[in-house]
Amino acid sequence: MYSTGARTKQTAAPDLRTPLRFLPGVGPRRAAQLERKGLRTVEDALFFLPLRHEDRTRLVDFRSLQPGQVATCSGTIVGLSPPPPGRSRAPLVVMLRDESGYAQASWFHGAYLARVFTRGQRLVLHGRVTRFKGAIVIQQPDYEIVESDDDERLHTGRLVPVYSLTEGLPQRPLRTLMWRIVDTFARDVPEALPEAVRERRRLVALPQALSDCHFPGTEAALATARRRLAFDDFLLLQLGLAILRSRTTRARGVQMSPRGQQVARLRASLPWPLTRAQERVWDEIRRDMAAPHPMHRLLQGDVGSGKTIVAALAVLTAVEAGYQAAVMAPTEILAEQHFMTFRQLLEPLGVPVILLTASLKPRERAARRAGLAAGEAPCVVGTHALVQEGVEFRRLGLAVVDEQHRFGVEQRARLRGKGEHPDLLVMTATPIPRTLALTLYGDLEVSVLDELPPGRRPVVTAARTESKRREIYTFLRDEIARGRQAYVVYPLVEESEALDLKAATDMARRLAEDVFPDLSVGLMHGRLGFEEKDAIMRRFKAGEINILVSTTVIEVGIDVANASVMLVEHAERFGLSQLHQLRGRVGRGPWKSVCILLTSGRLTEEAQQRIAAMVSTNDGFRIAEVDLELRGPGEFFGTRQSGLPEFRTADLLRDAALLEEARREAQAIIAADPELRDPAHRALRASLLARWRGKLALASAG
Ligand code: ADP
Ligand code: MG
Repeated sequence: MYSTGARTKQTAAPDLRTPLRFLPGVGPRRAAQLERKGLRTVEDALFFLPLRHEDRTRLVDFRSLQPGQVATCSGTIVGLSPPPPGRSRAPLVVMLRDESGYAQASWFHGAYLARVFTRGQRLVLHGRVTRFKGAIVIQQPDYEIVESDDDERLHTGRLVPVYSLTEGLPQRPLRTLMWRIVDTFARDVPEALPEAVRERRRLVALPQALSDCHFPGTEAALATARRRLAFDDFLLLQLGLAILRSRTTRARGVQMSPRGQQVARLRASLPWPLTRAQERVWDEIRRDMAAPHPMHRLLQGDVGSGKTIVAALAVLTAVEAGYQAAVMAPTEILAEQHFMTFRQLLEPLGVPVILLTASLKPRERAARRAGLAAGEAPCVVGTHALVQEGVEFRRLGLAVVDEQHRFGVEQRARLRGKGEHPDLLVMTATPIPRTLALTLYGDLEVSVLDELPPGRRPVVTAARTESKRREIYTFLRDEIARGRQAYVVYPLVEESEALDLKAATDMARRLAEDVFPDLSVGLMHGRLGFEEKDAIMRRFKAGEINILVSTTVIEVGIDVANASVMLVEHAERFGLSQLHQLRGRVGRGPWKSVCILLTSGRLTEEAQQRIAAMVSTNDGFRIAEVDLELRGPGEFFGTRQSGLPEFRTADLLRDAALLEEARREAQAIIAADPELRDPAHRALRASLLARWRGKLALASAG
């Protein structure tokens, strides 16, 4: 067994920032290859962790190989049969022997290998075993040529690391280089974790962890090492979030506790009582707003759970307390809808509401901005036009961000930056599994609307193929005859807005002229001007349009209770959360609602799973979990959450329990030392700053 941790420390520690090209044996060509992998410095290399390890302590005898098994074995080349001339599609077959018998290995596109291999060479092979014409064949294996016996301990007879490769850089020299780097430098990596934390959480030292992650002695050592590195990932994330959060709670914010007469009037004007969940959540928000520190709260509730009215109560509270409130939505259509809703709710109480979007005419925009800056406009609803430069508030007290998963951390922060520590309420309908909520929203308090308004009937979801189109149209017609309305939605076609638009336009025309000539068919898409969108949405809400054909612009937030059918064309092209959002556009009234997922052609396995998940459950949390499993955390978050640091080792799905531990540790550390000024935390602080790359802006004085 090998350990790099045992040697005595040298006096002058080698610099981890040393460029790899300065290492002996790394020429310009190799340096360039490494650079293609993102490896510039020794530190990069140390954290360039293997894809997997192969257990070469247990090489399988040729005689014991079983078809179907994935095995690692080793043998000497006794014969080569390259593809016959003119049959370049045939594989290269290599005959091998070991002490127990014979086996074959085969490679397609083996012309290059035919020149590399010679008789008498020893190979280590890793691949799937099959039986072909009576012979045992290892197909398309990873291979390594064993050059001499002295590097056996590195490349065979142990848990051998396998790295991701790049053109021209084979496994073996890369592994040799990694061995040298780990051997020379791992012990000099500064330990960032306080001793107490390491002991409490039973974590190995960082140098040992790095060494074992590359060249572990045993499976157990590898697992222990991985756990340590994953803990670091989580801890650095949670520390950053804890710092952000503690700054919020320590900052002096605005204290808004008006008498609440306006709120009482608004509540009295509603045609229904708040649900118990709405009452609870509103109470949490009200307390936050009354407290002297800034609110920083996430309101999470499945589509249709009634977040908007809660936001309206908060807005009214801010206004009653003499402050301004801003509500930001991700699309113009949603901003427009909120504008109408808020106007309906607030203007009877004497609170004017204005709208601010990018598509306003310059003169109007300037006038509205002036109203905000002068403090004459108490409430504004808008898109990200709200966070643009030049938008100023006189007294911003509350910032609300709707469908916040559509915004980045940055935009959220920018809106908040328009005031002096205003209260922040972010809302999302994307229900997020707890582990992810901790990661994404570790700097927020969370309120959950876990109840739908009464009387809602669950939406029935049906998967259909093209052959059922006529029946679907008949169904639409019946629903409309009953007084309902329908959406027909088209996906984005390969990110091309023009094609997307054409598909929707063609469909709208066909539906209007051929299929439903007696009905009113409207068309909604992102290219329409503000007034056109506005007019169409109004007509749909008023029931003047029976069928609204749309691109995905109506995906989030739209609220028309009378609509009872959502027909999604090419449903296979949508992601799960999108489908769930689209489905959430119906089932908002007392009628039975249906979501039809129309697919065409052969579906990929993943598409089938998405459709199956939609049909089997209406539960947003379940949908989110399946989505996370199918896509993995990186994709699940999309690029919009790019404000957070990357993980090197941790896996949110696999290491969820560890995340909890790291979070508790982070909270304890920050509670005792909010800005990490304690000298004992110096290394931790340095790691934190490096990992968050300036996004944390810790005061630099130590
Ligand atoms: P979301 O949480 O998806 O944003 P909305 O705020 O758009 O949901 O609310 C969905 C619909 O439910 C709206 O038409 C709203 O008027 C209605 N609603 C909200 N709260 C209640 C309630 N307590 N009782 C009945 N209907 C409600
Ligand atoms: Mg909403």
